[in-house]
Amino acid sequence: MTTPRAVVTGGAGFLGSHLCERLLEQDYEVLCVDNFCTGTPANVAHLLDHPRFRLLRRDVTDYLHVSGPVTAVLHFASPASPIDYLQLPIETLKVGSIGTLHALGLAKDKGARFLLASTSECYGDPQVHPQPETYWGHVNPVGPRGVYDEAKRFGEALTMAYRRSHGVDTAIVRIFNTFGPRMRPNDGRAIPTFIRQALASEPLTVAGDGAQTRSVCYVDDLIEGLLRLLRSDLAGPVNIGNPGELSVRALAERIRALCASPSKLRFVARPEDDPTVRQPDITLARDTLGWEPKIELDDGLRRTIAWFRRLDGSACQRSPHS
Ligand code: NAD
Repeated sequence: MTTPRAVVTGGAGFLGSHLCERLLEQDYEVLCVDNFCTGTPANVAHLLDHPRFRLLRRDVTDYLHVSGPVTAVLHFASPASPIDYLQLPIETLKVGSIGTLHALGLAKDKGARFLLASTSECYGDPQVHPQPETYWGHVNPVGPRGVYDEAKRFGEALTMAYRRSHGVDTAIVRIFNTFGPRMRPNDGRAIPTFIRQALASEPLTVAGDGAQTRSVCYVDDLIEGLLRLLRSDLAGPVNIGNPGELSVRALAERIRALCASPSKLRFVARPEDDPTVRQPDITLARDTLGWEPKIELDDGLRRTIAWFRRLDGSACQRSPHS
């Protein structure tokens, strides 16, 4: 049997690097394509000597040409944290549109299965709770977050058009908030921010009164769900996330306790269009992929905190968008 070969765009990012690792474990050859705008080669440095791994610096909005056979194209390239996509609004729209077009074109040329990393942000500030895949969402296209939400919604529409018009074997995953090692301490997402602040004994900055909810999934669980979707013939969209919902305030308090930190909570203004609730309905993933998250919140948080403790000062200071 020939070795399956995967192209992972955004493979040097948080999720992409875990994905590359797991694909290598599953005997794939992996070509990681990244322009390092929010990711870093350090995330895959430990894979560089692997005989089946290759790293290519490329902006996928320029072009995406790969020689030789490709079995799967996993399109993960995109700024993903609000700090990043608010600083890179046009790049975010371009990678969701032109980048997705190029990644789909590659899958079409190679007869590869295509997996789009979409997001729960497609549901916007939802009026249906929890959110099933059949919910069309409540997104403000002209608000600041619209650049991310609409880029992903466009990417989903483009993916379905390639499926319907060109017969490409596509899949869409709607990823809910995921956390774990290799998140950047300064990426502005709640969990890395709270951990960084708790470890530095600084106040934990909770947006609003902290009553808004989030459902957070540990990265290993998420990657398992993605790989099951990749191996299936489902088109999706399929929600992958952890339905365990808690308030942002409770999350801050949990992290503070696990870090044994003396930090206080400081309540700050809520960002515009910040979703009030967020919880995946994972019935479809359970029924069709036999997938559900296994890692308890505290366990995932402990592993993530341990990784943040090991980070050296230079990594903390690393500036994105280089
Ligand atoms: P990340 O910022 O760590 O990773 C994104 C990667 O894409 C980075 O390495 C970045 O350098 C690369 N990239 C961006 N634009 C590029 C371009 N034009 N060409 C080549 N590479 C480019 O973010 P992440 O959290 O790992 O997210 C990965 C994917 O998963 C994104 O598509 C994101 O929208 C999606 N997602 C993530 C989450 C989450 O909770 N982490 C939730 C929903 C969806």
